[in-house]
Amino acid sequence: MRLPLNPDLVRGFLDPDEGACLYEHALACAALGPCLEVGSYCGKSTLYLGTAMRDAGGQMIALDHHRGSEEHQEGEAYHDPELFDAKVGLMDTLPALRATLAAAKLEPFVIPVVTTSALAGQAFSMRLSMVFIDGGHSLDAAVTDYRTWAPRIVEGGILAIHDIFPDPADGGQAPYHIYQQALASGLFEQVEMRRTLAILRRL
Ligand code: MG
Repeated sequence: MRLPLNPDLVRGFLDPDEGACLYEHALACAALGPCLEVGSYCGKSTLYLGTAMRDAGGQMIALDHHRGSEEHQEGEAYHDPELFDAKVGLMDTLPALRATLAAAKLEPFVIPVVTTSALAGQAFSMRLSMVFIDGGHSLDAAVTDYRTWAPRIVEGGILAIHDIFPDPADGGQAPYHIYQQALASGLFEQVEMRRTLAILRRL
């Protein structure tokens, strides 16, 4: 994997090991159809997935409303004042994503979609080779992402879920909840767990 941009230059919460794992699986299943990322933020995971699309000759959708998750809002633990748009009084991470894509020359391979998971789910009906869920970490947001997108993964495709913490002391439980839901559905089998990144294959 030869990344076109140093991921350390991109804001975000993804370990390089996890990024490499996303790259490998996205590359391997790119021929099955487009890839979808839910929760792009400033484009750190998009950098890995988009590079896989570039290398495989595929395309991906980078879905994010770009208003930040609960934990990014003013006064919360992961708030970044540089990503706050004072004119509208809301977070805006879209300029940062675009800067990442431009710097990495990945614009031909990444289609940013700026809306919520629920709205995008109503507007789009395509089948997907891979879905990476890393959006809002409230139970409601995670369950919406899972219910909206997991059924659209083709046979042999990949469902990746970030921030899996089996021990509640280590982190929020919403991603772990949908991970368990996916396994219990009988539609997915686990391929690997890289740090906090679960990789499941659609049977
Ligand atoms: Mg995450």
